[in-house]
Amino acid sequence: MFKGITKRWVLNTLCAIVAVIVLVVVCLSYIVTTYYYSSVEQTLSGRSVELANILSGYSSDKDAGFSSTARDYVENFREKENMEITVITSSGNILVTSTGFTPDNNTPMPDYDSAKSSSSGYAKWIGKLSSGEKVTAVTRIVRSSEGNPVCAIRYVSSMHSVDRMLGITISAFCLVGLIIIALVILSGTYFIRSIVRPVRVISDTAKKIALGDFNATIDKMYDDEIGDLCDSINDMAKELGAAERMKNDFISSVSHELRTPLTAIKGWAETMHGCGIPDQETFEKGMDIIVKESTRLTGIVEELLDFSRMQNENMVLRKEKLDVLAELDEVLYMMRDRAINEGKHLLYDEPEPVSPVMADKNKLKQVFLNIVDNALKYTPAEGVVGIQVLFEEGYIKVIVTDTGCGIAPDDLPRVKDKFFKANQSVRGSGIGLAIADEIIRQHGGTLDIESGIGVGTTVTIALPALEE
Ligand code: ADP
Repeated sequence: MFKGITKRWVLNTLCAIVAVIVLVVVCLSYIVTTYYYSSVEQTLSGRSVELANILSGYSSDKDAGFSSTARDYVENFREKENMEITVITSSGNILVTSTGFTPDNNTPMPDYDSAKSSSSGYAKWIGKLSSGEKVTAVTRIVRSSEGNPVCAIRYVSSMHSVDRMLGITISAFCLVGLIIIALVILSGTYFIRSIVRPVRVISDTAKKIALGDFNATIDKMYDDEIGDLCDSINDMAKELGAAERMKNDFISSVSHELRTPLTAIKGWAETMHGCGIPDQETFEKGMDIIVKESTRLTGIVEELLDFSRMQNENMVLRKEKLDVLAELDEVLYMMRDRAINEGKHLLYDEPEPVSPVMADKNKLKQVFLNIVDNALKYTPAEGVVGIQVLFEEGYIKVIVTDTGCGIAPDDLPRVKDKFFKANQSVRGSGIGLAIADEIIRQHGGTLDIESGIGVGTTVTIALPALEE
């Protein structure tokens, strides 16, 4: 009937609350019943003491005046309506009753029988008369000052009105208990709905997101933990959507990156193959392009392999003691022609020798290549790319500054994220900086980027220097 959270609530909370309320109602009913019944007995007992004090002045029920005293008291008793008094002689005969009728000798009087045999001379009885009426009866044996039994006095009171009163009181307790349970069920149902409904919506939306619908969002219904969960799922869908878009952009960028050199290689190969033996100049130009584009292709594939190794945390560094300046020189040597061809100024003043570093030669060159390549790529013709090497606080710092387009403040924190490209129209896969950052991090260094739109970009690579 119930399932999930509702079932748990019914079993854990509702059952416990109902059990506690039933227990409280039972305890209260018991206490009130005991209180009312003992009050009746106390009243009867009090009255019996009063009469016993009067009659104990006689040494026996044969004394002159005993009978008239007892009759007088009984006849003038003011609470006849509420209780019945019976005076029983020591021989067991009923001397007088406040009702005026002498009861049948067969009427059971268990309290009288018990009082006779009890040392205290007092006993009570709660039970039903032959008429079906429920009564409380107390009997007190009256003794003279010498200790001889004089008579027995019996007080009987009907429990009808007390039971009626108790019935009303206990019904009131039950009613209050039921009202409390009803309120608990109402508020519990509201509370469960306020959880179950949004959870269902969240679960449906999560399924949609899992199926690739990253535009699915949840309306925030409450400003609480559930609301926070809705926000988190909406954020997650947004992030997944962005990641999906980045992945698609990445695939198309990489395909484009691969296609450009492949088209050039294929074109030149076909030219040389289809047109017979080309002249020397054409042959050299073609071969030159084929070699250059193959190298570029290899570079792209290497970058992709590195990225995949980085993702699988499989990147292995072969560290050795090396001179940063020598590696940087090699990279700049490769870049110089390109800068000249593109009409950009590559400025590098060879600095004083610096301490060696422990690094992976190829990986370090790859980082320098990537940073200088970016600087040239995003700097227009006539722009300047400057390279500086410093030794500061135990670190060798390679600083590459350009006067290019710069990076928008919103994009700056994300440029080191994988697949992120601030500028979709420029060639590139968006993973170069992510790989460079990871390589430098694995060398115990840092890669920081400062940039401003239209001002240019400064990339600082800091590597821990070896003590000489
Ligand atoms: P890509 O291969 O696309 O250049 P990177 O990871 O190397 O990928 O760079 C990520 C993004 O950072 C680039 O798409 C570009 O928008 C931005 N970026 C990197 N270097 C520079 C720079 N020197 N000037 C301007 N933008 C840059």
